[in-house]
Amino acid sequence: METVKIRRELLEYLLELAREFYPNEFAGFLREREGIFEEVLIAPAGHFGRNSAFFNTWMLPYDETIKGTVHSHPSPNPWPSQADLEFFSKFGGIHLIIAYPFTEESVRAYKNDGTRLRLEVVD
Ligand SMILES: [Zn+2]
Repeated sequence: METVKIRRELLEYLLELAREFYPNEFAGFLREREGIFEEVLIAPAGHFGRNSAFFNTWMLPYDETIKGTVHSHPSPNPWPSQADLEFFSKFGGIHLIIAYPFTEESVRAYKNDGTRLRLEVVD
């Protein structure tokens, strides 16, 4: 399995966001620096909700440091939905899904074709 790297501070912040937005989903774009995800750009309010299709209506900022997305699932199901997979295939990059109960173990990383990746937490 290929590996994707994420800074520990960012992972902890994402888990916090997922808990705060529960029972709604939150969504954001991930910025990478030197091969490690380090920063999140959170989707504007109004795009949050139980419907995963929100990504489709969110205009992407042009920013070449954005290499992935993250969103939470208010259920323990960590697998991408059909709408998620459609979005992933359009966007490319890496996609994180944080499932309930929003612990380090409930975070999964996927490639744009839905293949799982190993997530490595970097201090
Ligand atoms: Zn989803």
